[in-house]
Amino acid sequence: MNNWMKMLGDHYRRARRRYPEEKLLILFDIDGTVLDMRQMILHLLKAYDRANDSHHATGLRLDEITVHENDIRPLLNRMDMTPAEQDELLQWFNQVVWSPLAVRVAHQPFQGVLEIIRWFQLQPNTHVGLNSGRSERLRADTLKNLNELGSAFKVHFSNSLLAMNSGQNAPEAIAAAKCAAISEYRRSGYRIVAMVDNEPANLAAIANSPDYDGFLLLHADTLFESQRTLLPNTTLTGKHYRLAELITADQLHTQPIPRHVEFVFQGIEEARVRDQFLQGSIFWGEVSIRLGEHSRMPELDVSTTDQSSPVNARERWLTLLQDITDSQRDHGLKIDLKQGGILLDKLLRDLRMAQLDQRQVWINAPMQRLHERGFTKLRRALPDAILQCPLDSLQAVISALPEQAGEILTELKNWGINRFSVDWSKGGPELVEALQSRGYEVNIHSMPDLDGFLRASLLLPNSISSRFSSDQWPAAQPAEAPADAHAA
Ligand SMILES: [Mg+2]
Repeated sequence: MNNWMKMLGDHYRRARRRYPEEKLLILFDIDGTVLDMRQMILHLLKAYDRANDSHHATGLRLDEITVHENDIRPLLNRMDMTPAEQDELLQWFNQVVWSPLAVRVAHQPFQGVLEIIRWFQLQPNTHVGLNSGRSERLRADTLKNLNELGSAFKVHFSNSLLAMNSGQNAPEAIAAAKCAAISEYRRSGYRIVAMVDNEPANLAAIANSPDYDGFLLLHADTLFESQRTLLPNTTLTGKHYRLAELITADQLHTQPIPRHVEFVFQGIEEARVRDQFLQGSIFWGEVSIRLGEHSRMPELDVSTTDQSSPVNARERWLTLLQDITDSQRDHGLKIDLKQGGILLDKLLRDLRMAQLDQRQVWINAPMQRLHERGFTKLRRALPDAILQCPLDSLQAVISALPEQAGEILTELKNWGINRFSVDWSKGGPELVEALQSRGYEVNIHSMPDLDGFLRASLLLPNSISSRFSSDQWPAAQPAEAPADAHAA
């Protein structure tokens, strides 16, 4: 099977080069393409059970749903119920399936699709449109639902880029409405790059319409009613939406994800990684420092890295500081403090001796390690540096008790902290959004892989820290000035 997201990415980049001035448009069908209709079926069957005190859908799993929403009878046949119960349930289902309430509450997107849409929406002069066979009467509910689902990804669908069906509900009428929408989008000045749809018949109709000018046709191989054999032979087929395929690592050099997101190269305690960092163009490198057991001076915390070689961790810390100074402001250091207390004073002395510009300094420590005293001391000594604390211990409070959390965040800001760090695996999009909407700077850490890294970058945090040394990661990024990062 071809890699449809990679080919979509390649096709988009070619179109961008070829038509630098034009408004590019990527079109998506909604049901079965953006929205996973199995989720809606499952949701409604469970709602039926709750309302009728029945247990038909108890234990029913998403992957067991292999029917189209327009005909769920085969699924009911496999469930343990009498024909009379089946009829009753089916009648109810068909009544509510396209009700405004179901549209608003029962729909869920396919994994990864909103990130793909977000990426396109972030590209210059590029738009994402919807081309749906849904009835016009569902316009307001459709927009409300999709924008609610999209909000955590900063995806927004606009009314003017939503085409719906004002005609009959028959398959031919739906296909005709989609062709008419394409014609209309083109008349409005958009250059269509691609259209994604799960119904082969729709893609066939589009390929045969007079307004088709050769844009990419993509088939979302989910659940569909028309015959697969109808697919035009140029169609690309795929099941999964993966951002890491749309933008592969080698393209990150030439087409960076959001420009003002800063990257932090972790793991530079290790000599090999440090060299890679110093030669690359990522601005920030991250190290942990602690108070040496014997020297009682700041030194690299190498306890987790190369334990095999006996190292002078103090010397390596000073060398690293010198390397950063010598980089002529091409690099900065994010310093994780493993202790508070006397380490602070000694660290400040090392920084002064190395004559680092404060804008090359970013210090991170948990609030319970430095307390108010430690942070205010750092802030007084380094008014232009980034001071950060992780919010790991506060994440639950922020979502459960937003008001109290607001007071705590204000207090931390008064200590001099100007960036908060979020654990991606625990907080994710919602917490990032909650902090950004209050005007705070956000760093995201603990990215599991390239795909997670790319998804996080779409939220436009101020920074993302990650290990860049593995083969999966881009070895270098376009040089980034540290400029905007320091506004509190
Ligand atoms: Mg569809």
